[in-house]
Amino acid sequence: MEQERDQERSMDISLKDLSKQLEDFAKVRNWEKYHSPRNLLLAMVGEVGELSEIFQWRGEVDKGLPNWEESDKEHLGEELSDVLLYLIRLADICGIDLGDAAAKKILKNSIKYPEPKTKREFI
Ligand SMILES: [Mg+2]
Repeated sequence: MEQERDQERSMDISLKDLSKQLEDFAKVRNWEKYHSPRNLLLAMVGEVGELSEIFQWRGEVDKGLPNWEESDKEHLGEELSDVLLYLIRLADICGIDLGDAAAKKILKNSIKYPEPKTKREFI
């Protein structure tokens, strides 16, 4: 029951909530001086490398990761989070509203790549 509540709560966390938590995390540790756009970008790229290592040498992986150990899935969740958190912090430090920018980009992509009019276009 408690676990279900934790899961529901985490599904409701917004980018703004995470951004504020990251800001507070850096502030109390006096790490703000290290959080320049360049440093954050390089940190995020490093985390993308760690994420890539999880998939390295596994060949093609089925959706849902049916044959993975729970510990591997947990590790994957951690590395995905590292990438996301640095991305959010980078956007925040650059003064970009990431949620707004992402929503606008999806809209822009929908105009650039309109829905097919017939099923034949899928083939
Ligand atoms: Mg990591």
